[in-house]
Amino acid sequence: MYQPKILNQSGEVVGQYDYSTSKVVCVGRNYAAHAKELNNLIPKTPLLFIKSSNTLVDLADQITIPKNQGECHHELEIAILIGKQLTDANEQECVSAIIGVGLALDLTLRELQSQLKSKGQPWEKAKSFDGACPVSGFVSVDNFTELSNIDFKLTKNHHCAQIGQSRDMLFDIPNLIAYITTNFTLYPGDIILTGTPEGVASLNSGDKITLELNGLLIAEATIS
Ligand code: ZN
Repeated sequence: MYQPKILNQSGEVVGQYDYSTSKVVCVGRNYAAHAKELNNLIPKTPLLFIKSSNTLVDLADQITIPKNQGECHHELEIAILIGKQLTDANEQECVSAIIGVGLALDLTLRELQSQLKSKGQPWEKAKSFDGACPVSGFVSVDNFTELSNIDFKLTKNHHCAQIGQSRDMLFDIPNLIAYITTNFTLYPGDIILTGTPEGVASLNSGDKITLELNGLLIAEATIS
């Protein structure tokens, strides 16, 4: 089982979180520009799905994408590490349960997902394969004055691929977590992925990627 890494203010790993992650709860279409680029409607309530714990790998290790299954897209997302059990919690309780903030890639087999969507079938085969959620370590939430003002960026082969700002979320972080807890109990160690901004595109073997979060965290990886 995966145990999240804890980083200090300089982005160095200082330990592992006490609990392993039971699940990663994700939201689809949380940025209007991304919903538009995939020709999806803007949702009225958060569109939730779960990546199972087998998807988690450390971003600092090599990222391996599935072969011969069509395009595998990167979706760069702010990741939130939860530190308390939460059921049907209000926004204030949810915010106080946040331990850390990091980055993750919601890797998606896009062609397979389109096929599954067109048949009205679940997305797990496209979103929950082994290694489908590379995640960085987490910096303490105390480093962020406002959850609604987080910048993040993905560079691929030295070109900017995705730039995001948490203020552009359709459902902000407290609202999103509170909504999640009305559907699923969260446990300490669980991770929330908060949706991708526009710019999703395919990854290929040999690509070099760099993920940056508010100048606090820089993670580099090579795709194999
Ligand atoms: Zn996503």
